[in-house]
Amino acid sequence: MVKQKTTLTLLQRVEHLFKTVIGKEELYVPVRDDALFSILLQETEHVATQHEDADLLVMMDGATACELKNGEEMAKKARAIVLLDNGKPLPWEPAANLVKHSCAPPLHRNDRILLLLSKTISLVLFRQRAHHTGPETREDFHGGWTVRRSTVTLLAKALLDVEKELLLPAPPPNADIEDRISSAMMRLTSLHAGALESREQNAAVEKNDLLSILEILKAISTKRHAHDILYAFVEQIARIIPTDRCSIVRVWEENDSKGHVLVSHENENLRDCVITLDKYPELVEVINTGKTVLINDISSHPLTAEVSDALQKAGINALMVLPIVKKDKHVGTLILRAARRQGQFTVREASFFQIVSEAAANALERAHLFESIQLANERLEQLAITDGLTGIYNRRYFHERFEHEFERATRYKLPFSCVLFDIDDFKWINDTYGHLVGDVVLKEIAERMVACTRRVDILARYGGEEFVILLPQTDRQGAAIEAERMRSVVENFSFSQIADDQRITISVGVACIDLDTMKESDNLLRAADVALYEAKKRGKNCVVVYREPNKEKQNEH
Ligand code: GH3
Ligand code: MG
Ligand code: MG
Repeated sequence: MVKQKTTLTLLQRVEHLFKTVIGKEELYVPVRDDALFSILLQETEHVATQHEDADLLVMMDGATACELKNGEEMAKKARAIVLLDNGKPLPWEPAANLVKHSCAPPLHRNDRILLLLSKTISLVLFRQRAHHTGPETREDFHGGWTVRRSTVTLLAKALLDVEKELLLPAPPPNADIEDRISSAMMRLTSLHAGALESREQNAAVEKNDLLSILEILKAISTKRHAHDILYAFVEQIARIIPTDRCSIVRVWEENDSKGHVLVSHENENLRDCVITLDKYPELVEVINTGKTVLINDISSHPLTAEVSDALQKAGINALMVLPIVKKDKHVGTLILRAARRQGQFTVREASFFQIVSEAAANALERAHLFESIQLANERLEQLAITDGLTGIYNRRYFHERFEHEFERATRYKLPFSCVLFDIDDFKWINDTYGHLVGDVVLKEIAERMVACTRRVDILARYGGEEFVILLPQTDRQGAAIEAERMRSVVENFSFSQIADDQRITISVGVACIDLDTMKESDNLLRAADVALYEAKKRGKNCVVVYREPNKEKQNEH
């Protein structure tokens, strides 16, 4: 049976050698990216070309030779140059001392190796980069370097087992000391490279955080209402930083026993859920100190030791709580509470939370300003159309709507009625009970009318003790029925400040749009007024429906 020879890659060969043949001690410095590899390659080249080394052996692959700036010069200086084949031809004229060597471990297109060995120099620099394509394309990068003579020598032998006698220079007399020095150097360099790498990683993490913060800002800046801002905020946080619960609690006063959960990322519809603060000592702590509370072990932390059973039952093992808005008379204190079932909150996450909380506070302030301006505007608008005494629409708004409804009825040929009523003998009520009681009567009549009109009807105080009601899509008959109902409601109502045996009544004039004769809203209003006048003439407390004089006579309903 023929035993199949397994072919090891360069990397496998090198690593195998480093780890097993030479020992477990880490004898090479890992190189984890292309940037570091390029820097080391340049430095190596520099070392090799600066020194006169008559016995220098250079081993490299074709692609590495292409990457060298002064490869040709280095090759000329070398006693021997061994080209390991990875498919790339030499970029310069082959020197006389070139040995092509293809029996070395197979090199892949992306593999690089540079080995220098002379009496004074020993160095190996290598890397392997493999692309994985599939559902997810990723790249594996492995690399390393060593200046330890015994390691380099062993590696050279392993790579060039055929011609080792020919190529290996004699070891220097003090190889052992040199090895120890170079090991110490390597360790130092390794630390340095590690520090560089972690700085780069931190920069990457910071960049990531910035992007996440931007995302949160983008999400909340599109919202105008405080609740939407807060919900977008907790939702985004929970998406970016793994949290099992993320909510915002409002506490109005420092000594309040209750808090209000304004939003929770688990439930968009949650608003203002009341909680008892003695079950949340971490919130109380934040209210009292105004500082962030980070608890990664709730059972041993003095703040949560007493409630740790309940917290654990609720699946909470780590907590991060921080103020978003510290005591504001409009919004109280707003606190962000993030809880985790598993894993701890890191300091990095704490500062992330802090930054986004500041952003949320600013957005809230804007929203609050916006909302209060909007509210003030709405209030002003409302005031402008409301009668101060009765709270129903005023005459100005009535005219506005009247025009609009009249035009609509005319255009679409719809029925449309106008009811005008006046309190009977109101002067007498004022004289008997006083002006203030007169005001109460006006208010109570308005309230009754609001209660007995439809939402589409427009009720307004026309002036003094006169009221008007517009009835869209209501014909003469319907309006007459409505008017009679209103009259009856007033007649039978017990006014709070008026003696029970004293009835208060109204006279009502009703008019319906006549598309042939009424071209302006004023015509309809005038008709209702004529009918009202007629009702007064007929003895008050009655409804008169207007009819065109040349069509029919005005009729009492
Ligand atoms: P008629 O049955 O013919 O309508 O007699 P009247 O007394 O109701 O009518 P008149 O027009 O003579 O009197 C209306 C009174 O309504 C006079 C006015 O002082 C009073 N009045 C108008 N506006 C208000 C108000 O806002 N509050 C009070 N208390 N009285 C008002
Ligand atoms: Mg009047
Ligand atoms: Mg009156």
